Amino acid sequence: MSSTTVITNIASLVTNDPSLGDGSPLGLIQDAAVVIDGDRVAWTGESSKAPATDNRVDAGGRAVIPGFVDSHSHLVFAGDRTQEFNARMSGRAYSAGGIRTTVAATRAASDEELERNLTRYLREALRQGTTTFETKSGYGLTVEDEARALRIAASHTDEVTYLGAHIVSPDYADDPAGYVALVTGEMLDACAPYARWVDVFCEKGAFDGDQARAILTAGKAKGLHPRVHANQLSYGPGVQLAVELDAASADHCTHLTDADVDALASGDTVATLLPGAEFSTRAEWPNARRLIDAGVTVALSTDCNPGSSFTSSVPFCIALAVRDMRMTPDEAVWSATAGGARALRRDDVGRIAPGAYADLTLLDAPSHVHLAYRPGVPLVTGVWRRGVREI
Ligand SMILES: [Zn+2]
Repeated sequence: MSSTTVITNIASLVTNDPSLGDGSPLGLIQDAAVVIDGDRVAWTGESSKAPATDNRVDAGGRAVIPGFVDSHSHLVFAGDRTQEFNARMSGRAYSAGGIRTTVAATRAASDEELERNLTRYLREALRQGTTTFETKSGYGLTVEDEARALRIAASHTDEVTYLGAHIVSPDYADDPAGYVALVTGEMLDACAPYARWVDVFCEKGAFDGDQARAILTAGKAKGLHPRVHANQLSYGPGVQLAVELDAASADHCTHLTDADVDALASGDTVATLLPGAEFSTRAEWPNARRLIDAGVTVALSTDCNPGSSFTSSVPFCIALAVRDMRMTPDEAVWSATAGGARALRRDDVGRIAPGAYADLTLLDAPSHVHLAYRPGVPLVTGVWRRGVREI
């Protein structure tokens, strides 16, 4: 039998359900309580109306928000790229080629080493309030190494993405068409059983529009659903291809034409913005304001990876989005929770409402606004995942 717990004396609760709270997208409830039954939320409302439960937790007049849904990370890797970052911060431009350094280290690593690394970063993310995460392959680039990465990832999350098309494998430097054939053939066959999603880095120096279409279409035929690294470093076909193929998300969206924005506004593809990448490469910020004002659904994620965005902190990304991408604090918190859930086509996470998983983050602050107002401060003081208090 599952037991019930009430978390009471919550100064400000973000439910992300407008019908439960003040009618805003965040569905805010002041002086609130949440009842957890097993791994699910059973009730939310004003503290004074909370039903009787087996257990009681006093939130102490602090804020509770849904656990963060980090819908874009690259956590199965070995080694680091401190020297590359240091050089770039000393004036050298970023290019996609740095991925090869991580490919070499990842291929050389044991399964245990990759597992240990992944577990370490997941723990780090959990401490910062992340309760759902997606992660990708893409640092193996051989049939065996890609399948291995996905097998390891699949033991930690349902949101596993096949990214054999991260870059053209160095083994196929003179034969990119041969590599696309591998990615859409033998490698896909070996990887599909472990993955939910198929992804491609559609960018100059990685894969062009025709190659990306072939890779995503082949993945779809194997039952994988598309998501796309699109329009990060330059203008290109990635975003419109993502919308055309009904990808769950087009990720990065830094260089967009009006036609790209119109396409996103017209379809069900979420624009996932990853400000850690622009921060860590001193690149131009994506224009979140333009997207939101056009009616595009925006998610915020970390892109945690050892090359271009080595942060597992969603609160850091929220602060960047508010300060530098002109999102309001409410929009940024919504995008990092409900937005991430949309980017994974989930409605059982990213909100605190009856029926959803009991994934909650307790902040040492009276309001979610403090995530941007107090940047860099470790405000996460409690985390429940699937109804279990982990932090
Ligand atoms: Zn990425």
